[in-house]
Amino acid sequence: MTVLRERTLHDPCTPFAVLDYSKMSRNIDRLGTRAQKLGVTLRPHLKTAKSIPVASSIFAGGAGPITVSTMAEAEAFADAGFKDIVYAVGLAPDKLDRVFNLLVRDVDLAVLVDSRQQAEAINRLTAATGQRIPTLIEIDCDGHRGGLEAGDPELVQLGLTLHGAGNFRGVLTHAGGSYSARSQQALVKAAENECDVANRAAEMLRNSNVPCSVVSIGSTPTAHTAMDLKGVTELRAGNYVFFDLVMAGLGVCETEDIALSIVVTVIGHRHDKGWTITDGGWMAVSRDRGTENQRLDQGYGVVTSLGGAVVEDLIVAEVTQEHGILALRSGSRADVPHFAVGTRLRVLPNHACATAAQHAEYEVVRLETSPGDKSTSGATIDAVWPRVSGW
Ligand code: PLP
Repeated sequence: MTVLRERTLHDPCTPFAVLDYSKMSRNIDRLGTRAQKLGVTLRPHLKTAKSIPVASSIFAGGAGPITVSTMAEAEAFADAGFKDIVYAVGLAPDKLDRVFNLLVRDVDLAVLVDSRQQAEAINRLTAATGQRIPTLIEIDCDGHRGGLEAGDPELVQLGLTLHGAGNFRGVLTHAGGSYSARSQQALVKAAENECDVANRAAEMLRNSNVPCSVVSIGSTPTAHTAMDLKGVTELRAGNYVFFDLVMAGLGVCETEDIALSIVVTVIGHRHDKGWTITDGGWMAVSRDRGTENQRLDQGYGVVTSLGGAVVEDLIVAEVTQEHGILALRSGSRADVPHFAVGTRLRVLPNHACATAAQHAEYEVVRLETSPGDKSTSGATIDAVWPRVSGW
């Protein structure tokens, strides 16, 4: 009989993504409890985790309402039993055949539009097939990207067009601008604004006899800040499951809450420059520089021991495709730490969505890694959870 040795963080080839299940569970509980207190349905956005086991963890093995960012996610989650889905990226009309294929399988898939061309393409499909296509109109609450402004007369026109064909369901907004908040006060303002704008848009439609049953809002920063969500029917957030350095910089979480990290190996040094070189370049940690304009610029990520202890002031200062250069942040008075070639370290991501997207799967550790654990001993890997990729 072959005795299988347990795998630890020393075993997979680096670089690889680690998911700390204990931290993730705490993050999931935190927002779940908050949504419950606010009296709003939580519709987690799976764009960050893109993983069926993560989605199942959020719903304790069940299958609740979810948000997705690609049709590939919609299809994968539908196959896994998730039947209440919002596809929260403006619809490219040529994806309507894939939308139709899910709807006829009894998947309640809602799509997002902000233009007449999209609405007309949707209505044409309904006219041709008799299939209603639940549609949300995207509202721009903070100039972050697409959507109509709440006071735009086009909103009512679009609502009437969709409602006339039985396809209108509600409004959706995302306070993407909250990522640039530089104070708690600014976060509170972003959260209030997101809620107010969505309610105003819904009222405008209702006043024009367009029933608006869904008022969907959310981002991780505003979901953790909002105090009153009157009128809102559902809250979307995705990043919160993992959190990251951008969220820590905003004050939405602590560094210790970050559930995703990348294990890298030291492959060399440039002692003259105080550099430690690893095999974790931008292919492993992503090029995201989300903390660049925050109070504390974290380079391409914060370095921790394999056990999870943050190494004072050590960040991924530069990246090329397969090399990460670790250096002390500028102005640091810490001693340059020495890690021998072969040492495994971990990198906490600036932007969990971007970093996770560089990897095909998560190595899941259930034993919590600790911010005080300077050890190089690797936690046991309990599972390998695949991610959904592609579009
Ligand atoms: N809703 C929409 C439409 C989004 O685009 C996003 C993220 O980009 C979210 C919700 C989730 O926000 P967060 O990533 O801050 O959790």
